[in-house]
Amino acid sequence: MEQEQKLQQEEQPYTLVLAPNPSVMTGPGTNTIVLGDETTGALVIDPAVEEADYLAQVIAAGEARGGIRRILITHGHPDHYGGAAALRARLGVPVLAFSRAGVALADEELEDGARLAVGRDTLRAIHTPGHRFDHLCFLLEGTGILFAGDLLAGVGTVVIAPPEGDMGAYLTSLRRLQQLALRSIVPAHGPVILDPGSKLAEYIDHRLLREQQVITALGQFPQGATVGELVPQVYADVSPTLHALAAQSLTAHLLKLEQEGRVRRHGGSEDERWRLERLEGRVEPGRS
Ligand SMILES: [Zn+2]
Repeated sequence: MEQEQKLQQEEQPYTLVLAPNPSVMTGPGTNTIVLGDETTGALVIDPAVEEADYLAQVIAAGEARGGIRRILITHGHPDHYGGAAALRARLGVPVLAFSRAGVALADEELEDGARLAVGRDTLRAIHTPGHRFDHLCFLLEGTGILFAGDLLAGVGTVVIAPPEGDMGAYLTSLRRLQQLALRSIVPAHGPVILDPGSKLAEYIDHRLLREQQVITALGQFPQGATVGELVPQVYADVSPTLHALAAQSLTAHLLKLEQEGRVRRHGGSEDERWRLERLEGRVEPGRS
């Protein structure tokens, strides 16, 4: 049995425990990750809910890897830290996150590039804002496995909802991940992504296509358009039941284009209208 467990650990540098919190937003539930071994002890990423059976499973997975010594949080959404306080109370180990502004219960802040020894490998924190300003991905450097939190999703789509979400930052974060030699991506929701390169390219292309659709739709409203007027045009391919969610992503696209000087806002918060910026005499910013 012990021998078997050792073998398993050599094949699989992490244990995945699925949290019992399935929903429209979380898919099958949050993937909680336990990694490490006897030499360094274990750490857990994203203990999602306070539920006895689930937390017992997480603790058992940690014990098989030398015992949990740290709790890491990818970002401050409840389905990623919901079990952290209970786990900390049980084990007496610290909670680490990018910032206390993002995760109020964090004991320690993890800056971009921070490295933690896990078994014979090293886990590197990578600040990847976009879905949320405090988002961290974690790269297992030796094996090229990326624990991606909510930056990518194995199922469904990643919500970019301003003000905590930022479309420009999101695209920059995805491009940053493209620079890494990745073997696989373990998202917080849904199955493992085995083709990181094409998946990242697909994510970037998808957002840029939407952006182009936003620009095309704005072209039909020379006097400006509200978000409510733009949603059915830009998201004609998406079920109307999801249009409230789509409005958030659309706003994120508009804010990015505004930052780039390509669209302009008119009117007050009651009747906010968006219009393409006239580009005569200017060179349109490239997007290399
Ligand atoms: Zn999230």
